[in-house]
Amino acid sequence: MKGGCLCGAVRYEVTGPALFGGYCYCADCRKTSSSHSASIAIAEATMTCTGATREFSKTGGSGNPVTRVFCPACGVGIYSKGARAGVVMLKAGTLDDEFLEAFKPMASIYVRRCPSWDQPRAGLPTFPEMPTQPPSS
Ligand SMILES: [Zn+2]
Ligand SMILES: [Zn+2]
Repeated sequence: MKGGCLCGAVRYEVTGPALFGGYCYCADCRKTSSSHSASIAIAEATMTCTGATREFSKTGGSGNPVTRVFCPACGVGIYSKGARAGVVMLKAGTLDDEFLEAFKPMASIYVRRCPSWDQPRAGLPTFPEMPTQPPSS
């Protein structure tokens, strides 16, 4: 999979498989995306990222510090890390067009926080908060 930010300064390539894909409705994802995030979990070791990035860290809903990595030129968030050791949550919307279908949503998490205008997609398992075990196939 390949992708990058809006201005093209930050590019990435992922050589490993997607571990999990899902939608997150937590307050932090809402603030950074205006609705919910579509994320692909990948092993950090399988990702190569080029271009200068900046980071913003904040304690996430899991209680662990979550670092959000974004392009300082265009402000687009590329991925976050820290919720699970060695795992990066890649923002699916940053994938290049030809890789968009690599995102396979499997669950919606933090749906307790959903506003009425951004309800979880029908047909997917939902979790009120972060599931203790990552939902996986
Ligand atoms: Zn950029
Ligand atoms: Zn979230």
